[in-house]
Amino acid sequence: MRYRKPQPKHFRPSKRVVIIGASVLLVTIGGLSAWAMVKRNNSAYTATNDSNTDANSQSPQATTAPPKPQTTTITMAASGDQIAHDSLVAFARNNAGYDFTPLYQNIQPIIKNADIVFCNPETLVAGEQFGISGYPAFNAPTQFAGDMTKAGKCNVINQATNHINDKGQQAINANLANWQSLQPLAIAGANKSAADQQAISYFTVKDIKFAFLAYADFSNNANFAPYAINIYHDTMLFDQQLKQARSNADVVIVSMHWGTEDSTTVNQDQTAFAKRAADLGADILIGTGPHVLQKATHTTGSSGNSMLTWYSLGNLLSTQLQLNELTGGIATWSITKTDTGVKISDVKFHPTFMSYSWSADDRAANNLLARDNLALQLLKNADRDIQSMFPGASAAERLQFIKDTIGNEVTVSE
Ligand SMILES: [Zn+2]
Repeated sequence: MRYRKPQPKHFRPSKRVVIIGASVLLVTIGGLSAWAMVKRNNSAYTATNDSNTDANSQSPQATTAPPKPQTTTITMAASGDQIAHDSLVAFARNNAGYDFTPLYQNIQPIIKNADIVFCNPETLVAGEQFGISGYPAFNAPTQFAGDMTKAGKCNVINQATNHINDKGQQAINANLANWQSLQPLAIAGANKSAADQQAISYFTVKDIKFAFLAYADFSNNANFAPYAINIYHDTMLFDQQLKQARSNADVVIVSMHWGTEDSTTVNQDQTAFAKRAADLGADILIGTGPHVLQKATHTTGSSGNSMLTWYSLGNLLSTQLQLNELTGGIATWSITKTDTGVKISDVKFHPTFMSYSWSADDRAANNLLARDNLALQLLKNADRDIQSMFPGASAAERLQFIKDTIGNEVTVSE
């Protein structure tokens, strides 16, 4: 349904014409480089370093065989903010250190078979030397990253958030090193140098090549080097990276940390940059930041291409206070690559609810550390906890809120 133009590497129009033309050229000029040029000139897109290499390494004989039709499908999952509040870290604390894995137990049915799992750690995992701290300047134990990776299956990691600079550049560097040691498929959004910022994260899953780009609206701590955080208002950076990613990858994923906090309404800044990303050829936009859900839609780019757009996936893991902040979910979809292009299908949203116990007395006294018995649950199993935390609310009421907020362009699982 939503095909975009084929990529150079897999573009095989008028194969025979190319072969015949190339053969003539080979005879006439007798050079392999001419072959490569013919291949490149027949591409729908500007050649990239990758496709140059491909063309040069391919012998003419190898391409005389008829192209083998190939279809590859992978599944991807994405969710919103994972915030290591004080009470969440306290909940994970045990004699041996920290264990966050129980928090991911109930969502295993959704994530366990996903090839790619996008996650947004909203808090640094810079190491204990920077002090473990909660709101407003966060730093979670490094185990948080380990458990997100192990139990949460996170392998595409957003680092462009308003909290990434909570403790300065040294903490950003240490945080990046911790994530890198876990060897996810991709990390993007924060950088330790200008050269790092320029290098786009690419990864390949089952023969599909992805680019992962990440940008934030702003940083709470505004004192940072221009390279430290990718800010999308730097439109030169944004445009240049999206163009480069589009040329080099089958699928371009853009993470945007943006929007109006606690508002389910998409703001003008978001719609403007979603359109800009679609015009530049992005395939998937994953929005986080408002702490609540916003609509999912398809944004049409200037060449008629379609970009799956999640304006905000809300929160996944947190102990925030409001009903809507605890109502989240996991988005999933399939990505299929054929010889004619890439297709995104089977787009779904699986609602979750983050529950905890907090007595009326502790709540009245604003004793935040007293929040306990944390559980990330599938919404359908959270009815009793929702009703006890928020009289008048229920799983059914939350499901309706989610459907009204996400909209009818994607399927909301019940
Ligand atoms: Zn944020």
